[in-house]
Parts: sequence; structure tokens; C-alpha cells
Amino acid sequence: MKAACYQGLREISCEDVEKPVIQEPTDIIVKVAACGICGSDLHSYKLGLFPEISLETPKGRIPGHEFSGDVVEIGSAVEGIKVGDRVAAIAMGGMAEYARVGNAFLGMTVYKLPDEVSYEEAATIEPLATSLHAARKGRPAEGQNIVVFGAGIIGLGIIQCLKAMGLNFRQIIAVDVSDRRLDMARRMGADVTLNAVRENVHERVEAIAGTQPFMLMPDAGSYPLVDIVYDAVGYIMERPGVPVFQQAIHMAKEEGTVVVFGIFEQNLNLDLSDMVTKQVNIHGSFAYTFDDLADSLELIRSGKVDRRALVSHECSVDQCKEAFETQANFDGSVKVLIKP
Ligand SMILES: [Zn+2]
Repeated sequence: MKAACYQGLREISCEDVEKPVIQEPTDIIVKVAACGICGSDLHSYKLGLFPEISLETPKGRIPGHEFSGDVVEIGSAVEGIKVGDRVAAIAMGGMAEYARVGNAFLGMTVYKLPDEVSYEEAATIEPLATSLHAARKGRPAEGQNIVVFGAGIIGLGIIQCLKAMGLNFRQIIAVDVSDRRLDMARRMGADVTLNAVRENVHERVEAIAGTQPFMLMPDAGSYPLVDIVYDAVGYIMERPGVPVFQQAIHMAKEEGTVVVFGIFEQNLNLDLSDMVTKQVNIHGSFAYTFDDLADSLELIRSGKVDRRALVSHECSVDQCKEAFETQANFDGSVKVLIKP
């Protein structure tokens, strides 16, 4: 079968590899319909990070853990899943015609797709669950000002999840360096968008959200009235400058919240005094729970979030190199799907 295989840094090619077979009684084999390129796949592609999220083969490692398709084979101990089921699955090696899902348990590693949910939408359930997990970590509430740094698939998903909560926020402000992605953020429900290349983000946020004097030390100035800052950027070596995390703790109000989701490609030198004096709550967020996955599927099924709009490109597995380069181009893409 055909599969995308890493060959080295920034090297990926379509190879002919062995089709996976049932190895354990709880395995299933899925004929892959669509598989997303994750930000973490890009970190692997560009820097060789996270080898554990790809599947080793003699022809190279197969990336892909955000996929959907049809069940074509099941192990003897699999329950509640049958051949022909349309599913989204959590496993490695999804950028191939077939993928083996180990420990295939419904509601955990396998989710049956309702008729209303397409394969393409289903391939975005995993990143949506990641966004939902992060969104919930901030404990959003009515009347808050919220800033989302990064309008990639996770940041956009955070905005979608916030909107789907049905709470009356004061402002959701999206910050990115790509106008194209910021347009998408507006479509997904951001009230204001700021391009960090052209605008002084801190000043603009102060103007939009208002300010509050620093209670404990009024002489130390004032801070924007921002309740929650989501950092869906982390640190990307290609984009040096003040880390978003630093900007976020500077921007949050006293006892405000910063949720850090982005991946840090290198260690940073940070001034954390603001975090201490303002008593900012910092939450790391990573991956998701089974509930987040099930809830994400329901958000798509019910039409509360539109994931279709976020799929900017669809490529065949033969075009995997092009697909990765397209995904790596921040301005030109949101979500690239590989459809083997
Ligand atoms: Zn992912």
C-alpha cells in the first residue's frame, strides 16, 4: 500500500509499504479516508521532534494520528465495532491507505461517525478535542475579555469552542501574523483581530479591553482587563521575538489566566515577575480526554462548529511532500488533509 514516510529533516516521500495486519485480538484495520497534518507532525518534519507520534516501517516513519475511514477488519476480541463502520480513530500511521488501530475501544480510541459527519470533518476531531481541552482549562465565563494568540487550527478551534459554549463574552480578540488566518478567526467568531506584524498588540488590547490599575502597587501602572489569554503559538524558532507566553502574562489582568498550549521549539529566557505580582494563573494544556473527543464529535454533528471551513487543502498521499510544505506555510493554509 502507499504511505507517506519521513526520510529525514524536511524530507518525506510516498513509499510502497506492507499493509498492516491484525496483530492483537483488540486491533482493527481502518481504510483511511482522510488524515490531517498536525502541528506536531510539522515539528517532526522540520526538526525531528516527537518520533513517537509516527509509525516505524523499513521505508521510514509514517506520520498521521488525526484520521477517519472505514473499518475493514476487526480482531476477535473487538466489541461494538464492525466491518464497514465509518470511524475516527486515535492511532499512529494514518497517512497511508490502511492503518492499524491497537486497543480499539469505542469511546476511547475509536468513535463511530454519525451520517451527518463527513470523513474530512472527522479527521479534525482530534485537534478540535485539543482545542476544547485548552478552552475549558481557561474556565471561561460570561462578560470576559479573552485573547487568543495564534489562529492556526488549534487557536481557531479554541475560538469555535468558546463560541459554542453560548456564553456572552465581552470580546474575543484573535492575534496572528497572517491576515488570511485572521479572516478565518473572524469567520469563526472572533470580535476583533490583530495582526502582530503591523500592530502593537498590547496597546491595541488595552484600548479594546480597557485597563485596570495594579491594585497592590498602583505606581507600577495598569494592565489590560483581559481575563484569559490562550497561547496557541508556543515558540517557533523561525519567528524570533518576544515569546507569546511573555506577552500573555504581561497582558493578563490580576489573577487572570493564561492557558499555554503551543509547543516550545527551544528554551526561553523569560521575565516572570509580572506573573508573580499579578498572581496570574498559568495552565498548561496538552491533548484531550475521551470526553473532549466525544464532545467534539457532537459539536461537529450538531453544527455548533464548522470544521469544513478550516480544511484549506486536500492532497493525495503521492503529494505528501507538497502537502507538508503547504501546511508549513502559515499564511497559505489552515488545515491540510491527506486523502490516501
Ligand atoms: Zn494532532
